[in-house]
Amino acid sequence: MKNLLLSIAMIVAGSSCAPAANSAQQDQAVSQDSTTKEQRQLPETLTVAMTGDIMMGTTFPTVELPANDGRDIFRDTKEITLQANIAVGNLEGAVCDGGQSTKGSGPNSYSFRMPTRFAPLLKDAGYDFLSMANNHARDFGDEGIASTERVLREQGIAFSGIEGRQESAIVEIDGVRYGLCAFGHNSYTLKHADLDKVKRIISALRKDADIVIVSFHGGAEGKAHNHLPYGQEVFLGENRGDLRNFAHFCIDNGADIVYGHGPHVVRAVEVYKGHFIAYSLGNFCTPYGMNLSGISGYSPVVRITIGSDGTFREGRIYSFLQTKGVGPRRDDTNAVAREIKSLTEADIKDSRISIDDEGNITLVH
Ligand SMILES: [Zn+2]
Repeated sequence: MKNLLLSIAMIVAGSSCAPAANSAQQDQAVSQDSTTKEQRQLPETLTVAMTGDIMMGTTFPTVELPANDGRDIFRDTKEITLQANIAVGNLEGAVCDGGQSTKGSGPNSYSFRMPTRFAPLLKDAGYDFLSMANNHARDFGDEGIASTERVLREQGIAFSGIEGRQESAIVEIDGVRYGLCAFGHNSYTLKHADLDKVKRIISALRKDADIVIVSFHGGAEGKAHNHLPYGQEVFLGENRGDLRNFAHFCIDNGADIVYGHGPHVVRAVEVYKGHFIAYSLGNFCTPYGMNLSGISGYSPVVRITIGSDGTFREGRIYSFLQTKGVGPRRDDTNAVAREIKSLTEADIKDSRISIDDEGNITLVH
Protein backbone atom coordinates (compact mmCIF):
# COMPACT_ATOMS: atom_id res chain seq x y z
CA MET A 1 0.00 0.00 0.00
CA LYS A 2 1.04 3.47 0.75
CA ASN A 3 -1.01 6.49 0.22
CA LEU A 4 -1.15 7.55 3.80
CA LEU A 5 0.69 5.93 6.62
CA LEU A 6 -1.01 7.85 9.38
CA SER A 7 0.82 6.40 12.29
CA ILE A 8 2.77 3.39 13.33
CA ALA A 9 2.17 2.35 16.87
CA MET A 10 4.18 -0.47 18.29
CA ILE A 11 3.25 -2.56 21.24
CA VAL A 12 6.54 -2.94 22.96
CA ALA A 13 7.58 -5.69 25.29
CA GLY A 14 10.81 -4.67 26.86
CA SER A 15 13.29 -2.01 25.88
CA SER A 16 13.58 -1.99 22.12
CA CYS A 17 16.97 -0.28 22.00
CA ALA A 18 19.28 -2.47 24.05
CA PRO A 19 20.75 -5.42 22.17
CA ALA A 20 19.54 -7.97 24.73
CA ALA A 21 16.39 -6.48 26.10
CA ASN A 22 14.23 -8.72 28.21
CA SER A 23 12.48 -6.45 30.67
CA ALA A 24 9.03 -7.46 31.80
CA GLN A 25 7.66 -3.99 31.39
CA GLN A 26 3.99 -3.70 30.64
CA ASP A 27 2.87 -3.80 27.04
CA GLN A 28 2.13 -0.32 25.94
CA ALA A 29 0.17 0.84 22.96
CA VAL A 30 1.14 4.21 21.55
CA SER A 31 -1.30 5.78 19.18
CA GLN A 32 -1.89 9.14 17.59
CA ASP A 33 -5.54 8.34 17.05
CA SER A 34 -7.85 8.46 20.02
CA THR A 35 -10.94 7.08 18.26
CA THR A 36 -12.16 3.78 19.57
CA LYS A 37 -12.61 0.73 17.42
CA GLU A 38 -16.37 1.19 17.52
CA GLN A 39 -16.13 4.84 16.41
CA ARG A 40 -14.03 4.22 13.32
CA GLN A 41 -15.73 3.87 9.96
CA LEU A 42 -14.03 1.10 8.03
CA PRO A 43 -14.21 0.62 4.28
CA GLU A 44 -16.45 -2.24 3.22
CA THR A 45 -13.47 -4.23 1.93
CA LEU A 46 -9.70 -4.19 2.34
CA THR A 47 -6.91 -5.83 0.38
CA VAL A 48 -3.96 -7.62 1.95
CA ALA A 49 -0.84 -8.71 0.02
CA MET A 50 1.27 -11.50 1.51
CA THR A 51 4.66 -12.87 0.52
CA GLY A 52 7.12 -15.43 1.91
CA ASP A 53 10.84 -15.25 2.62
CA ILE A 54 12.82 -12.13 1.72
CA MET A 55 16.63 -12.26 1.75
CA MET A 56 17.81 -9.63 -0.69
CA GLY A 57 21.41 -10.84 -0.89
CA THR A 58 24.22 -11.26 1.60
CA THR A 59 27.64 -9.83 2.42
CA PHE A 60 28.66 -12.97 4.36
CA PRO A 61 30.78 -15.05 4.02
CA THR A 62 31.32 -13.52 0.59
CA VAL A 63 29.46 -10.70 -1.12
CA GLU A 64 26.52 -11.99 -3.16
CA LEU A 65 24.32 -9.05 -4.04
CA PRO A 66 21.98 -8.49 -7.00
CA ALA A 67 22.86 -6.20 -9.88
CA ASN A 68 22.13 -2.46 -9.71
CA ASP A 69 22.44 -2.65 -5.93
CA GLY A 70 19.14 -4.52 -5.73
CA ARG A 71 17.02 -1.78 -7.26
CA ASP A 72 15.37 -4.22 -9.70
CA ILE A 73 14.63 -7.14 -7.38
CA PHE A 74 11.00 -6.20 -6.65
CA ARG A 75 10.44 -4.78 -10.15
CA ASP A 76 7.69 -7.20 -11.18
CA THR A 77 5.95 -7.59 -7.83
CA LYS A 78 5.84 -4.16 -6.24
CA GLU A 79 2.81 -2.96 -8.14
CA ILE A 80 0.77 -5.57 -6.27
CA THR A 81 2.31 -5.00 -2.85
CA LEU A 82 2.07 -1.21 -3.23
CA GLN A 83 -1.56 -1.25 -4.31
CA ALA A 84 -2.81 -3.49 -1.51
CA ASN A 85 -4.06 -1.70 1.60
CA ILE A 86 -1.37 -3.52 3.58
CA ALA A 87 1.61 -5.67 2.51
CA VAL A 88 3.35 -8.19 4.75
CA GLY A 89 6.23 -10.66 4.42
CA ASN A 90 9.02 -12.48 6.23
CA LEU A 91 12.49 -10.96 6.52
CA GLU A 92 14.80 -13.99 6.46
CA GLY A 93 18.10 -12.62 7.74
CA ALA A 94 19.80 -9.76 9.53
CA VAL A 95 20.05 -6.28 8.03
CA CYS A 96 23.41 -5.07 9.30
CA ASP A 97 26.85 -4.08 8.12
CA GLY A 98 29.02 -5.78 10.73
CA GLY A 99 28.79 -8.22 13.59
CA GLN A 100 29.87 -11.79 14.10
CA SER A 101 28.09 -14.77 12.58
CA THR A 102 26.48 -16.87 15.29
CA LYS A 103 26.52 -20.01 13.16
CA GLY A 104 29.23 -22.55 12.39
CA SER A 105 31.08 -22.72 9.10
CA GLY A 106 29.94 -26.13 7.79
CA PRO A 107 28.50 -26.68 4.29
CA ASN A 108 24.93 -26.59 5.65
CA SER A 109 25.48 -23.53 7.79
CA TYR A 110 24.12 -20.32 6.35
CA SER A 111 24.32 -16.83 7.78
CA PHE A 112 22.46 -14.10 5.96
CA ARG A 113 23.57 -10.48 6.26
CA MET A 114 21.81 -7.92 4.09
CA PRO A 115 23.47 -4.50 3.84
CA THR A 116 21.61 -1.69 5.59
CA ARG A 117 21.60 0.36 2.37
CA PHE A 118 19.13 -2.25 0.98
CA ALA A 119 16.48 -1.42 3.61
CA PRO A 120 14.82 1.31 1.48
CA LEU A 121 14.09 -1.36 -1.15
CA LEU A 122 11.62 -2.92 1.29
CA LYS A 123 9.86 0.38 1.79
CA ASP A 124 9.90 1.06 -1.94
CA ALA A 125 8.21 -2.33 -2.50
CA GLY A 126 5.38 -1.30 -0.17
CA TYR A 127 6.00 -3.47 2.87
CA ASP A 128 4.18 -2.36 6.01
CA PHE A 129 5.14 -5.26 8.28
CA LEU A 130 7.87 -7.90 8.26
CA SER A 131 8.21 -10.94 10.49
CA MET A 132 11.53 -11.45 12.27
CA ALA A 133 10.46 -14.73 13.90
CA ASN A 134 12.59 -17.03 11.78
CA ASN A 135 15.77 -19.08 11.84
CA HIS A 136 17.96 -16.34 10.29
CA ALA A 137 16.99 -13.16 12.17
CA ARG A 138 19.71 -13.83 14.74
CA ASP A 139 22.47 -14.87 12.29
CA PHE A 140 24.49 -11.87 13.50
CA GLY A 141 23.47 -12.03 17.12
CA ASP A 142 21.72 -9.40 19.17
CA GLU A 143 23.71 -6.73 17.37
CA GLY A 144 22.22 -7.90 14.07
CA ILE A 145 18.72 -7.94 15.54
CA ALA A 146 19.13 -4.41 16.92
CA SER A 147 20.42 -3.18 13.56
CA THR A 148 17.53 -4.84 11.67
CA GLU A 149 15.02 -3.23 14.01
CA ARG A 150 16.67 0.15 13.68
CA VAL A 151 16.67 0.18 9.89
CA LEU A 152 13.09 -1.09 9.68
CA ARG A 153 12.02 1.64 12.09
CA GLU A 154 13.84 4.20 9.93
CA GLN A 155 11.86 2.96 6.94
CA GLY A 156 8.55 3.06 8.83
CA ILE A 157 8.12 -0.71 8.50
CA ALA A 158 6.64 -2.47 11.52
CA PHE A 159 8.04 -5.79 12.73
CA SER A 160 7.84 -8.33 15.52
CA GLY A 161 8.77 -11.87 16.42
CA ILE A 162 11.81 -11.79 18.72
CA GLU A 163 11.24 -12.94 22.29
CA GLY A 164 11.56 -10.08 24.79
CA ARG A 165 11.50 -7.36 22.14
CA GLN A 166 8.68 -6.16 19.87
CA GLU A 167 5.96 -8.57 20.80
CA SER A 168 3.48 -7.22 18.29
CA ALA A 169 2.71 -4.13 16.27
CA ILE A 170 -0.23 -1.99 15.36
CA VAL A 171 -0.03 -0.21 12.04
CA GLU A 172 -2.63 2.36 11.12
CA ILE A 173 -3.17 2.89 7.41
CA ASP A 174 -5.91 5.06 5.99
CA GLY A 175 -7.77 4.96 9.29
CA VAL A 176 -7.70 1.18 9.63
CA ARG A 177 -5.73 -0.39 12.47
CA TYR A 178 -3.96 -3.64 11.65
CA GLY A 179 -2.65 -5.72 14.54
CA LEU A 180 0.34 -7.86 13.59
CA CYS A 181 2.40 -10.54 15.30
CA ALA A 182 4.82 -13.27 14.28
CA PHE A 183 5.85 -16.64 15.69
CA GLY A 184 8.67 -19.05 14.93
CA HIS A 185 10.32 -22.20 16.24
CA ASN A 186 13.75 -20.95 17.33
CA SER A 187 14.64 -20.30 20.95
CA TYR A 188 14.97 -16.55 20.43
CA THR A 189 11.63 -16.17 18.64
CA LEU A 190 8.14 -15.90 20.02
CA LYS A 191 7.17 -19.55 19.63
CA HIS A 192 4.11 -20.91 17.89
CA ALA A 193 4.26 -23.91 20.21
CA ASP A 194 3.53 -21.63 23.19
CA LEU A 195 -0.20 -21.41 22.66
CA ASP A 196 -0.86 -19.57 25.92
CA LYS A 197 1.38 -16.75 24.78
CA VAL A 198 -0.04 -16.85 21.24
CA LYS A 199 -3.51 -16.45 22.71
CA ARG A 200 -2.44 -13.60 24.99
CA ILE A 201 -0.78 -11.65 22.16
CA ILE A 202 -3.71 -12.10 19.76
CA SER A 203 -6.21 -11.14 22.47
CA ALA A 204 -4.26 -7.96 23.26
CA LEU A 205 -4.19 -7.00 19.58
CA ARG A 206 -7.87 -7.82 19.16
CA LYS A 207 -8.79 -5.16 21.70
CA ASP A 208 -7.30 -2.31 19.71
CA ALA A 209 -7.00 -3.50 16.10
CA ASP A 210 -9.64 -3.72 13.41
CA ILE A 211 -7.85 -6.52 11.55
CA VAL A 212 -5.45 -9.03 13.14
CA ILE A 213 -2.83 -10.73 10.97
CA VAL A 214 -0.58 -13.52 12.30
CA SER A 215 2.67 -14.67 10.68
CA PHE A 216 4.39 -17.98 11.38
CA HIS A 217 7.66 -19.59 10.31
CA GLY A 218 7.46 -23.34 10.53
CA GLY A 219 7.31 -26.74 8.92
CA ALA A 220 9.92 -29.04 7.43
CA GLU A 221 12.02 -27.59 4.62
CA GLY A 222 12.45 -28.52 1.01
CA LYS A 223 10.76 -30.02 -2.03
CA ALA A 224 9.82 -33.25 -0.23
CA HIS A 225 7.77 -31.26 2.29
CA ASN A 226 5.35 -29.28 0.16
CA HIS A 227 2.33 -31.26 1.37
CA LEU A 228 0.87 -30.06 4.65
CA PRO A 229 0.97 -32.92 7.14
CA TYR A 230 -1.27 -33.52 10.13
CA GLY A 231 0.33 -33.18 13.56
CA GLN A 232 3.73 -32.01 14.60
CA GLU A 233 6.57 -31.67 12.11
CA VAL A 234 10.11 -32.50 13.19
CA PHE A 235 12.98 -31.37 10.96
CA LEU A 236 16.72 -31.48 11.77
CA GLY A 237 15.70 -32.66 15.24
CA GLU A 238 13.65 -29.51 15.85
CA ASN A 239 9.94 -29.20 16.51
CA ARG A 240 8.82 -27.13 13.55
CA GLY A 241 5.20 -26.94 14.73
CA ASP A 242 1.77 -28.45 14.38
CA LEU A 243 0.78 -25.86 11.84
CA ARG A 244 -2.81 -26.79 11.08
CA ASN A 245 -3.54 -26.75 14.78
CA PHE A 246 -1.65 -23.48 15.29
CA ALA A 247 -3.38 -21.65 12.41
CA HIS A 248 -6.83 -22.83 13.52
CA PHE A 249 -6.02 -21.88 17.11
CA CYS A 250 -5.10 -18.35 16.01
CA ILE A 251 -8.39 -17.91 14.19
CA ASP A 252 -10.38 -19.50 17.01
CA ASN A 253 -8.80 -16.87 19.27
CA GLY A 254 -9.45 -13.81 17.15
CA ALA A 255 -7.00 -13.69 14.22
CA ASP A 256 -8.41 -12.69 10.85
CA ILE A 257 -5.58 -13.89 8.59
CA VAL A 258 -2.70 -16.33 9.17
CA TYR A 259 0.23 -16.54 6.75
CA GLY A 260 3.12 -18.97 6.93
CA HIS A 261 6.57 -19.52 5.47
CA GLY A 262 9.63 -21.59 6.29
CA PRO A 263 9.47 -24.71 4.11
CA HIS A 264 11.04 -22.79 1.13
CA VAL A 265 8.28 -24.24 -1.05
CA VAL A 266 4.63 -23.25 -1.26
CA ARG A 267 1.91 -25.19 0.52
CA ALA A 268 -1.89 -25.26 0.56
CA VAL A 269 -4.20 -22.38 1.41
CA GLU A 270 -7.43 -22.68 3.37
CA VAL A 271 -10.46 -20.70 4.45
CA TYR A 272 -11.27 -21.80 8.00
CA LYS A 273 -14.39 -20.44 9.71
CA GLY A 274 -14.44 -17.71 7.08
CA HIS A 275 -10.79 -16.68 7.56
CA PHE A 276 -7.84 -17.10 5.22
CA ILE A 277 -4.75 -19.19 5.98
CA ALA A 278 -1.68 -19.60 3.74
CA TYR A 279 0.39 -22.49 5.12
CA SER A 280 3.57 -21.60 3.25
CA LEU A 281 4.26 -18.82 0.79
CA GLY A 282 7.69 -20.28 0.01
CA ASN A 283 10.72 -18.30 -1.07
CA PHE A 284 9.76 -14.87 -2.31
CA CYS A 285 12.73 -12.64 -2.96
CA THR A 286 15.83 -14.70 -2.26
CA PRO A 287 18.23 -14.08 -5.15
CA TYR A 288 21.13 -15.75 -3.28
CA GLY A 289 21.59 -18.28 -0.51
CA MET A 290 18.65 -20.52 -1.40
CA ASN A 291 18.04 -23.33 -3.84
CA LEU A 292 15.77 -21.89 -6.55
CA SER A 293 15.41 -24.90 -8.83
CA GLY A 294 11.97 -26.25 -9.74
CA ILE A 295 9.30 -25.58 -7.13
CA SER A 296 11.88 -23.91 -4.85
CA GLY A 297 11.82 -20.99 -7.29
CA TYR A 298 8.03 -20.59 -7.01
CA SER A 299 7.41 -17.14 -5.53
CA PRO A 300 3.81 -16.06 -5.16
CA VAL A 301 2.23 -12.84 -4.07
CA VAL A 302 -1.13 -13.74 -2.57
CA ARG A 303 -3.53 -10.83 -2.48
CA ILE A 304 -6.84 -11.29 -0.74
CA THR A 305 -9.86 -9.10 -0.28
CA ILE A 306 -11.49 -9.21 3.14
CA GLY A 307 -14.59 -7.64 4.56
CA SER A 308 -14.27 -5.07 7.34
CA ASP A 309 -15.07 -7.96 9.71
CA GLY A 310 -11.87 -9.70 8.54
CA THR A 311 -13.58 -12.52 6.69
CA PHE A 312 -12.33 -13.69 3.32
CA ARG A 313 -14.18 -12.50 0.21
CA GLU A 314 -11.90 -13.41 -2.69
CA GLY A 315 -8.25 -13.65 -3.60
CA ARG A 316 -5.66 -14.03 -6.28
CA ILE A 317 -2.40 -15.94 -6.40
CA TYR A 318 0.04 -14.02 -8.61
CA SER A 319 2.75 -16.27 -10.02
CA PHE A 320 6.41 -15.31 -10.10
CA LEU A 321 9.54 -17.40 -10.61
CA GLN A 322 13.02 -16.77 -9.28
CA THR A 323 16.38 -17.35 -10.84
CA LYS A 324 19.69 -16.80 -9.12
CA GLY A 325 20.68 -13.19 -8.60
CA VAL A 326 17.48 -11.72 -10.02
CA GLY A 327 14.44 -11.82 -7.70
CA PRO A 328 10.86 -12.78 -8.58
CA ARG A 329 9.87 -12.37 -12.23
CA ARG A 330 6.41 -12.63 -13.75
CA ASP A 331 5.39 -16.15 -14.79
CA ASP A 332 2.74 -16.03 -17.49
CA THR A 333 2.24 -19.80 -17.28
CA ASN A 334 0.81 -19.39 -13.75
CA ALA A 335 2.81 -22.38 -12.54
CA VAL A 336 2.78 -21.18 -8.94
CA ALA A 337 -0.98 -20.69 -8.85
CA ARG A 338 -1.52 -24.16 -10.31
CA GLU A 339 0.84 -25.65 -7.73
CA ILE A 340 -1.03 -24.04 -4.81
CA LYS A 341 -4.32 -25.13 -6.38
CA SER A 342 -3.14 -28.72 -6.61
CA LEU A 343 -1.73 -28.76 -3.06
CA THR A 344 -4.91 -27.23 -1.68
CA GLU A 345 -7.07 -29.80 -3.42
CA ALA A 346 -4.87 -32.60 -2.06
CA ASP A 347 -4.34 -31.38 1.50
CA ILE A 348 -7.46 -29.48 2.62
CA LYS A 349 -10.50 -31.67 3.25
CA ASP A 350 -13.88 -30.07 2.59
CA SER A 351 -12.19 -26.96 1.24
CA ARG A 352 -14.44 -23.90 1.19
CA ILE A 353 -12.59 -22.36 -1.73
CA SER A 354 -11.91 -23.05 -5.35
CA ILE A 355 -8.79 -21.92 -7.21
CA ASP A 356 -8.71 -21.57 -10.98
CA ASP A 357 -5.71 -21.92 -13.27
CA GLU A 358 -5.10 -18.16 -13.22
CA GLY A 359 -4.91 -18.22 -9.43
CA ASN A 360 -8.29 -16.67 -8.64
CA ILE A 361 -9.54 -17.88 -5.29
CA THR A 362 -13.30 -17.91 -4.77
CA LEU A 363 -15.57 -19.12 -2.02
CA VAL A 364 -17.71 -22.15 -2.76
CA HIS A 365 -21.02 -22.28 -1.01
ZN1 LIG B 1 13.68 -20.04 7.49
